Amino acid sequence: MNIDLKSQFPALNQEFEGYPLCYLDTAATSQKPQSVIDAMSNFYQHSNANVHRAAHRLSARATQAFEAVREKVAEFINAGQNAEVIFTSGTTHSINLLAWGLTPRLAADEVILIDSAAHHANIVPWQELARRSGATVIPIPLRQDLTLDEQAFLTLLQTHKVKIVALCHVSNVLGTINDIAALAEQAHRYGALVAVDGAQAVAHHKVDVQALGCDFYSFSGHKMYGPAGVGILWGRFIQLDRLTPLMTGGEMIDTVSFSGTTYGQLPNRLEAGTPAIADVIGLGAAIDFMRSLPAAAFAHEQQMLIQLRSRLEALPGILVYGNPHQQSGAVAFNLSGEHHQDIGILLDQQGVAVRCGHHCAQPLMQLMQISGCCRASVGIYTTQQDIDRFIHAMQDAIELLA
Ligand code: PMP
Repeated sequence: MNIDLKSQFPALNQEFEGYPLCYLDTAATSQKPQSVIDAMSNFYQHSNANVHRAAHRLSARATQAFEAVREKVAEFINAGQNAEVIFTSGTTHSINLLAWGLTPRLAADEVILIDSAAHHANIVPWQELARRSGATVIPIPLRQDLTLDEQAFLTLLQTHKVKIVALCHVSNVLGTINDIAALAEQAHRYGALVAVDGAQAVAHHKVDVQALGCDFYSFSGHKMYGPAGVGILWGRFIQLDRLTPLMTGGEMIDTVSFSGTTYGQLPNRLEAGTPAIADVIGLGAAIDFMRSLPAAAFAHEQQMLIQLRSRLEALPGILVYGNPHQQSGAVAFNLSGEHHQDIGILLDQQGVAVRCGHHCAQPLMQLMQISGCCRASVGIYTTQQDIDRFIHAMQDAIELLA
């Protein structure tokens, strides 16, 4: 790739005891380009005021910048209208907001289907919803290759009163991609609502919520080159409008008196309190950054992932998990007979940053019959040198532990 993207990310330009940082933990959080850092800093230096409330021009400037990001997000994901974009603090908040909001609509004899590869953020809020409503949670089985079993999914839809289907777009552990459009179409045929966790998808794929055909889509700014502290819940207007607000207070009301309160309109109805204004501005800059990237940058990232996987698979004693034909962003692996944490520590000694553990997906670990694994994940700034360094450090770890 000719364009030098890495130099735009200041945090990537550092060393650990003489080893340049080799950052392969983008699935946990991406690094931030200078343009995002500058946008947030500029906001605080020149435009900081609370949004939506004051008569003064500084507040009008902050509000305009804030609402412009809502419009940018709506365009970015092809939302039907700006009011379908709800600012949250991240995917976890988005799914909690959604699961709480659906409480009055779920009956005790109904079922919530959850992707077995889901992140805990896309499991626990649904379990809580089931506890509140008496509904049942059923995991959607995976095939041998750890992809979602569409046949089993169909059978569950046919045999249960399914109200909600909670899917991940891309698995944060395996990087496997679900065919959301096909799954959503099927779920809708049986009258279920489809909620998608897009935390691991937005940085790697063009997301078009209307083409995906789901009802709700959640993601986090910090996984797509933006800041932590901001995320999005998108939903079809008609569905969002029926959600019971999780948070109440300022910003979300129409009128308040001690004899009763009425709520305002979307999107404010689901955005009580002062939002993370500068983080929203940073998210806008991250979207600008992503839109400025040529298609070649994403093709390069995919190439790095494919190469990482195939070279890893060629190493002795390495177990690579998941289906290589449907993969994005991350590769999960273990070294036979060794603890995943030991691998992580040995890699770190050479400045190579990967993630080790259960990756907030304990049900998936239980299915895989492992206590945890390592995960190497890439971004648009990952270079050939990073992959070479990773493979070299893995070879050293294998030799040392032999
Ligand atoms: N879902 C998936 C698939 C994720 O990877 C993550 C973050 N690891 C989350 C949800 C939770 O995101 P956040 O911590 O930004 O709320």
